[in-house]
Amino acid sequence: MKEFEIAFPIRHEPTEAELRQVAGRALGVKPERVAAVRIVRRSLDARGEIVYRYRVQAAAAGEMLEEFVVPAYRDVHAAEPVLIVGSGPAGMFAALRLLMEGRRPVILERGKDVHARKYDVAALNQQRLVNGESNYCFGEGGAGTFSDGKLYTRSSKRGDLREVLQQLVAFGAPESILVDAHPHIGSDALPRIVEQIRQCIVEHGGEYHFGEKVTGILSVSDGLHKRWKVLCAGGTSYTARQVILATGHSSRDIYRYFAAQGWPLEAKGFALGVRAEHPQALINKIQYHSKHQPGMPAAEYSLVEQVDGRGVFSFCMCPGGILVPSVTAPGEVVLNGMSNSMRNSPWANAGIVCAVNPGDVPEYDRFGVFALLEFQQSVERAMFGFSDSLRAPAQRLVDFCRKKDSQGLPRSSYQPGVLNAPLYDLLPAGVYERLRVAFAAFDRKMHGYYTNDALVLGVESRTSSPVRIPRDPETMCVPGLEGLYPCGEGAGYAGGITSSALDGILVAAAAATR
Ligand SMILES: Cc1cc2nc3c(=O)[nH]c(=O)nc-3n(C[C@H](O)[C@H](O)[C@H](O)COP(=O)(O)OP(=O)(O)OC[C@H]3O[C@@H](n4cnc5c(N)ncnc54)[C@H](O)[C@@H]3O)c2cc1C
Repeated sequence: MKEFEIAFPIRHEPTEAELRQVAGRALGVKPERVAAVRIVRRSLDARGEIVYRYRVQAAAAGEMLEEFVVPAYRDVHAAEPVLIVGSGPAGMFAALRLLMEGRRPVILERGKDVHARKYDVAALNQQRLVNGESNYCFGEGGAGTFSDGKLYTRSSKRGDLREVLQQLVAFGAPESILVDAHPHIGSDALPRIVEQIRQCIVEHGGEYHFGEKVTGILSVSDGLHKRWKVLCAGGTSYTARQVILATGHSSRDIYRYFAAQGWPLEAKGFALGVRAEHPQALINKIQYHSKHQPGMPAAEYSLVEQVDGRGVFSFCMCPGGILVPSVTAPGEVVLNGMSNSMRNSPWANAGIVCAVNPGDVPEYDRFGVFALLEFQQSVERAMFGFSDSLRAPAQRLVDFCRKKDSQGLPRSSYQPGVLNAPLYDLLPAGVYERLRVAFAAFDRKMHGYYTNDALVLGVESRTSSPVRIPRDPETMCVPGLEGLYPCGEGAGYAGGITSSALDGILVAAAAATR
């Protein structure tokens, strides 16, 4: 088998005959002697003439291309249950892996099913009504359902990304995610995929319980066996030997519960800053060197700058996307970004955030392990305190950096509305100063980025969990709490859809072997 790279103009999808031709040359055989050929990766290259670069695998006669086969789901109606708290990417992919292992996943989800959830998300945007159990973070599919659906991760060494991507395709995602260097799905397609996953889990014998907010986890014993009894807010309870806790980074009540039980928790760094929103046409112009043509994908960017010992970087960039309120309780303003599969809104947005490490905000040290969580929450509340609503405090970018109040604001995609505000004052000084320096530096990397046509809005704060639930690297359980498996972004072991899904698979596989 040989692997090689070829490039084609972006409007030209290579045909099988063309691939065989090139493959034949690479293998040193005639095209008709090429047994199999396939594209394994496609990436856009805008450095010179804009082309798609394809990585291609080819096999000569007598050889085979390596296939990746996702193990089959088993019927688990009669199998021993494993409780999964949370139906985000970590919980869903843990459940799918349990089906492969012959164990019965029972999912407890505080939010609603994805269909009902859409109405709460609409009310959040249009009427500024916050439902603490059903929003952009809580509900079926977790924080990944109404998102940009970017599927790349730097942590593929955790597991095999193909297991995640191939299952997503089987549940309705486009096949392009298997080859695109920066695959994404989009919020118009994700809810249907999430529903298909649920259907598969239930058909094979798993269970889903919506509106079940877990408020307690008790160790119980019948004299012979130890079990976990999981209590829900409505008075119901579920018992099993093993519980996978995949509650995401916004489930602050779970961290508090851990602390109240005296169970281990660790402080962890996270990142905080603003969302920057530019006209997509400007980002296209910069990234495609004024060579953008209709039909080309909305351009992305990724920026990073070290300022005064801390990284300032772009986070969850959404080309052709919109800004959304990702609050989980009344009295906060938090922003994030999402997009549809076409990525065709006139805006490009990204979090521009500064790393905050334990010890960086000594005035919060009195909160111990919750220092950064309290800090995070205080900034979210300060934003709300200023606007007294879900409207986001906002400024033009250059004004923000020059500590100058803006005269009028450009249009924004943020539906709950924006409020002209001294954002430079509302952000913690250490974060603001670093953002200011970084924004100017970004313009050297993307000339034209630093412009008053762009808007900055506060606050982007749910970048990752500010707390970690420790786990034993061998058992994957909380040390001393056998059978309790912290998992995904909320536990502090993942960030993003795919790495959370991979962590779910890892943890489920560990649970199934015990
Ligand atoms: C608007 C938005 C856009 C995003 N875009 C992207 C993107 O394009 N690409 C990307 O990689 N990442 C993106 N992310 C981040 C990504 O969604 C998360 O990293 C990922 O969903 C984390 O997966 P998880 O399963 O660990 O947790 P979550 O997805 O947060 O899921 C946790 C689940 O647990 C449930 N839960 C919480 N507490 C309880 C409880 N006590 N009882 C019962 N259930 C509970 C919640 O309701 C939720 O459904 C985005 C996030 C948001 C908010």
